[in-house]
Amino acid sequence: MQHHSRPSTPFAELEQELAERQAAGLMRRRRLLESPQSAHIRVDGKDVLSFCSNDYLGLANHPALIAAMQQAAASAGAGSGASHLITGHHVFHDMLEQALANFTGLPAALCFSTGYMANLGVVAALMRRGDAIFADRLNHASLNDAAVLSRADLQRYRHNDLEHLARLLEKSSATRKLVVADAVFSMDGDIAPVPALLELCERHDAWLLLDDAHGFGVLGTHGEGVLGHFGVRSPRIIYMATLGKAAGVAGAFVAAEQVVIDYLLQHARTYIYTTASPPPQAAAVLAALELIAADDARRAHLQTLIATLKSRLQSCRWPLMPSVTAIQPLLVGSNHDALRLSELLLTRGVLVPAIRPPTVPQGTARLRISLSAAHSPADIERLATVLAEAESDWELP
Ligand SMILES: *Cc1c(COP(=O)(O)O)cnc(C)c1O
Repeated sequence: MQHHSRPSTPFAELEQELAERQAAGLMRRRRLLESPQSAHIRVDGKDVLSFCSNDYLGLANHPALIAAMQQAAASAGAGSGASHLITGHHVFHDMLEQALANFTGLPAALCFSTGYMANLGVVAALMRRGDAIFADRLNHASLNDAAVLSRADLQRYRHNDLEHLARLLEKSSATRKLVVADAVFSMDGDIAPVPALLELCERHDAWLLLDDAHGFGVLGTHGEGVLGHFGVRSPRIIYMATLGKAAGVAGAFVAAEQVVIDYLLQHARTYIYTTASPPPQAAAVLAALELIAADDARRAHLQTLIATLKSRLQSCRWPLMPSVTAIQPLLVGSNHDALRLSELLLTRGVLVPAIRPPTVPQGTARLRISLSAAHSPADIERLATVLAEAESDWELP
């Protein structure tokens, strides 16, 4: 039977959707990075001053990490060749888990290939149909996907709204409850009220999963993360952090009570059914941990840059959002204005990404300035200058 509406190619519907996306100005594209990640990079054939990376401590291109990776490749090879539970669990992976447990001061740690996989693995292993997950509305996409995968009931509370969370917890009749929050929110830069979240979890006998992707290495006296920042400690906390941001490499880990880690080793499917990451990657993270622990100067330098930026942009037309972290979003408002400002800066050689809905709520399009210890005070000055120039050109036709 022949349908007249039958499309000419099997993928005509996809073509149509892409064309609509293009027409709406929402097409995403990749820039081509032609240098190592740093403050000054070469992208799409152009040298720019960049405020785009999550390389908060400037370790992604550090000689010690490169050397560790090279040496480990020479002794351990390039690939792991198997999953962790078969023969892929190399000595370097084991050393890294020990080091991460020591570094965070938590009983045990388990490494995952990426943060996305860690979140999927942990939530889907611990939670089942009939259980309840309470998640901040601004949590990272991987945590929402994880909740869907687990089939537990997902309830989202308004961003950092403890009263809303308390009401949802009170109404819940689920026997197993998990509160999930980004420790530092990736598009806002603000820090979750961890002590108050923990208190609510204790009152309602819920577990607390913290995703410290943007706090690990940066927050706390020695970069140990959000738990050190607040000085909180509790056996009901399941701490997760990534190793591709401040730690400069790739991967992620979960640290918690030994029994939680033992359970995840048996049940986290994104840990079990995947090839172990390359051993040299673990070796590079080990080198990063040593630098993070020993070198408070990097964190101090980053703090100085953050303070400088805040004071330099005090009277800017577009306000900085309330953040004390390396993520300093400049609130612009409309999608069009955010794009225009980002383009104006780029013509002056400064790259700051415009973040638009649906990544952030409607009407809150922003430039996500992210600072790194790789920046110099002169780089911050340059950013302030080009923003001031863009501001004075803004009303011109
Ligand atoms: C980056 C990020 C992740 C994902 O980590 P990857 O290692 O990049 O997969 C998870 N959660 C948050 C909050 C993040 O910012």
